[in-house]
Amino acid sequence: MADNFIYMDHAATTPVLPEVVEAMMPYFADYYGNPSSVHVAGRRAGVALQKARQTLAELLGAKATEIIFTSCGTESDNAALRGIALARRTATGASRILTTPVEHKAILQTAEDLRDHFGFALTLLPVDSTGLVSPDDLAAALGDGHDVAVVSVMYANNEVGSVQPIAELGALCRAAGVPFHTDAVQAGGKLPLTVQALQVDAMSLGAHKFYGPKGVGLLYLRNGTPFVPYMTGGSHESSRRAGTENVPLIVGMARALELAESARVAEMDRLRVLRDRLIGGVLEGVDGARLTGPRAPRLDNHASFVIEGADAEGMLIALDLAGIAASSGSACASGSQRPSHVLDAMGIAPAVAAGALRFSLGRSNTAAQVDELLDKLPAIVTRVRGEG
Ligand code: PLP
Repeated sequence: MADNFIYMDHAATTPVLPEVVEAMMPYFADYYGNPSSVHVAGRRAGVALQKARQTLAELLGAKATEIIFTSCGTESDNAALRGIALARRTATGASRILTTPVEHKAILQTAEDLRDHFGFALTLLPVDSTGLVSPDDLAAALGDGHDVAVVSVMYANNEVGSVQPIAELGALCRAAGVPFHTDAVQAGGKLPLTVQALQVDAMSLGAHKFYGPKGVGLLYLRNGTPFVPYMTGGSHESSRRAGTENVPLIVGMARALELAESARVAEMDRLRVLRDRLIGGVLEGVDGARLTGPRAPRLDNHASFVIEGADAEGMLIALDLAGIAASSGSACASGSQRPSHVLDAMGIAPAVAAGALRFSLGRSNTAAQVDELLDKLPAIVTRVRGEG
């Protein structure tokens, strides 16, 4: 599709790079074997699967045995939280889950399900007005860690771009002997993913946020972390996630992360400049606009605001008509009219949160596009407010 619009919604999803499509193609119709089969067709697929696993493991500084393929970031989050919490309760009796109120619903609703249907206690750590967790609050909530089954804190927030101090939080969990998971779905391709440095025991990724295909993700699970499979029915993925592996998509995910990692530093340097131009321009050109999330530490491609008196849905429709694709913050929340749970946890009143607007930049964006947005947005806001 020729892009005749300005796409500024890369936090929702990204296009698949041509090199990624090319890497996947042979595995649909030529090398189509089941990687579990013993014959030559299966072995070919099996080799591709292992190669992708090895590539991904190396990119994360992990071992191949620590990579579990899944169908998306949501599944990785479910597998991590359910798998670790249940296994640890069985092993130690620990039955409290610690997480934050700004997590993606893939974590929050899973934690609530574990509370409501599996008897776990749930503690939500406080966040400040920019959505950041404090290590001191985690330390206080952990105590000696004996009753905590698992801690999960997202690496980067999808709605407001805040980047949590994962290594510091991880070190606290490690000292308390409690497994630590991070949802790194928004961090993939944008922030360093080396698991040793991050001090995580488990980490979720989804390929479609870093120019890979939709429908595939991975869970890094450090060897020795207590885990029961959430999906049963076969010995795939060393009996940790049953189901025939999606070889073409997994090959695509490995290629996509390889490309994303090799371009990451230069691309983030480029996007940071565009992002700062966008943030500065909106704050200056649109009255009643306020940045949500911190100035720093913030995702380099992420600019999010609340615009007082302007309804998000109205702004998104008007932007769309003007050829600009943006979001109110969370794909799941747009259209639902419910105020964002993230902005709520940050203390932003529902009436203000109703004007949430997110621009997430990526490879296709240029300074000229940012300027076009800055040129068009003030009039759009005026119109949506009913002043124009
Ligand atoms: N976690 C975060 C922080 C996300 O932003 C998303 C998707 O937007 C997910 C999890 C879910 O990922 P997926 O769309 O791959 O299921």
